Amino acid sequence: MQKSVSIIGGGLAGLAGAIYLARNGFKVKLFEKNSKTGGKANEIRLGPYRFDTGPSLLTMPFVLQDLLGDSLHELGLQPVEPVCRYFFADGSSLDTSSDRKKMLENLYRFSPSSADEYLKFINHSKRIYQRTADVFLFSPIHEIKKLIRLKYLPTLLKFYQIDPFRTVHQSVSAFFTDHRLIQLFDRYATYNGSNPFQAPATLNIIPFVEYELKSCYIKNGMYRLVELLVKLAQNLDVEICTSHSVEKILYNTNGVTGIVANGRHFKSNYVLSNMDVVQTWQRLIDGFDNYQKKLDRLEPSLSGLVFLWGIEGRFDRLKHHNIFFSSNYEKEFREIFAEGIFPSEPTVYIAITSKKDPNHAPENGENWFVLVNMPFINKNLNMDKAIQQIRIHTISILGRHGIKIKDKIKMEKILTPNDFDNLYNSNKGSIYGLSSNSKSSAFKRPPNRDRRIKNLYFAGGSTHPGGGIPLVLLSGKIAAQLITEKKENR
Ligand SMILES: Cc1cc2nc3c(=O)[nH]c(=O)nc-3n(C[C@H](O)[C@H](O)[C@H](O)COP(=O)(O)OP(=O)(O)OC[C@H]3O[C@@H](n4cnc5c(N)ncnc54)[C@H](O)[C@@H]3O)c2cc1C
Repeated sequence: MQKSVSIIGGGLAGLAGAIYLARNGFKVKLFEKNSKTGGKANEIRLGPYRFDTGPSLLTMPFVLQDLLGDSLHELGLQPVEPVCRYFFADGSSLDTSSDRKKMLENLYRFSPSSADEYLKFINHSKRIYQRTADVFLFSPIHEIKKLIRLKYLPTLLKFYQIDPFRTVHQSVSAFFTDHRLIQLFDRYATYNGSNPFQAPATLNIIPFVEYELKSCYIKNGMYRLVELLVKLAQNLDVEICTSHSVEKILYNTNGVTGIVANGRHFKSNYVLSNMDVVQTWQRLIDGFDNYQKKLDRLEPSLSGLVFLWGIEGRFDRLKHHNIFFSSNYEKEFREIFAEGIFPSEPTVYIAITSKKDPNHAPENGENWFVLVNMPFINKNLNMDKAIQQIRIHTISILGRHGIKIKDKIKMEKILTPNDFDNLYNSNKGSIYGLSSNSKSSAFKRPPNRDRRIKNLYFAGGSTHPGGGIPLVLLSGKIAAQLITEKKENR
């Protein structure tokens, strides 16, 4: 008889899990609390302006090939060039490129010794990728029996070669002499919501992934990915129930029996939760108090403060992706992670999709997605003050680089850590799940297959392999594989 799966949450990981499971012959019902699927990868319109509300850059596009097959071409993936324009506190700027020749030329002009340094660094980054990807990205790391297979043993035995004992910053500082490039490459720790001054240098895998495995934009906006996933899922007979908030996971001594959503009981053989793992245990599962407390001690990732600005005028100095660095990165991360306060002088990220898709803004306008790193929700965080001061800071830092926007903001919507919590049940408003601020973080992430309740599985940024589009899609695949193997072994 066909086995059934209830999926909690229609974020990217839930949708990916649904597609893989339906392909493997399961009857899948997906419950999403909001009226739209996509979770953090969402889209809104403010008058004539259109915005993505979450991810703006797609790395590891090959992950989509496996999930989407021939439908991949429908996304019209576009390379991003330059990958990003970086503005530094001393007034200088640098365009990065995934064309290695161009990158080396730009670096040489910026700081002559850095071209050679970059070559050494990117080769180091590539080595980490080659050593870790199979075990840490594409496999269920908590399934010990699989890990000790011969294929993975070399990686496990050469653990020291993946640079786990230094921090990202220590390792980057050993490669580069120019403090601006140290800041630039330190930034990659934030791609999974971590602190470069604490996170293990294994995260230096990310520059290789971004520059050498290519980074993309999705034609017409990142939300097109969500729409395509929904279409594929529905073609495979996945039933998607939006505006259905799951209130309970039901289980007995034999394992899960189903879920309760909007007060109704839905039976299923398996439950796959795409809701944040910590939140799933705290809000949906009775019992297990000690485990819930243990999960609560895991450090959430960075959160963010987002301004969606409908801007009047066009700004040629800005590219699709732009970073305005603070003058003291260490202080910025100390404030965020150690003190839990909003950064007094934050680094500002601006993405403008109307550079590629002019119809995302009126003729003489641009749609700015402005993101500043923030602490996860805690008692020291004063949100009203943060919004006020960070808006002033952003306008002022842009002004220092000759970009005057004081009277140019015609529309505004703000997303705070509280919004990420309320909208998507993300743990303390974190936007990437759990931080990787310690050497053992990868192993401490809650597993895709739960050991306490039989037939309960997890996918999404707070479980293995972590946050960001490609990783959460992979988590959906890993969870679906584990469920399928379970069914076949019965
Ligand atoms: C501002 C911002 C910028 C980002 N930038 C990038 C980027 O440039 N590149 C990148 O790769 N990544 C980026 N990310 C991270 C990326 O968006 C996330 O890692 C990814 O979208 C998370 O997907 P998910 O499926 O794990 O979780 P979510 O998107 O959180 O999905 C979980 C879903 O579960 C639903 N849900 C929760 N509780 C329940 C319940 N009880 N019942 C029913 N449904 C429920 C939620 O509503 C949500 O739809 C960014 C994120 C943010 C917020």
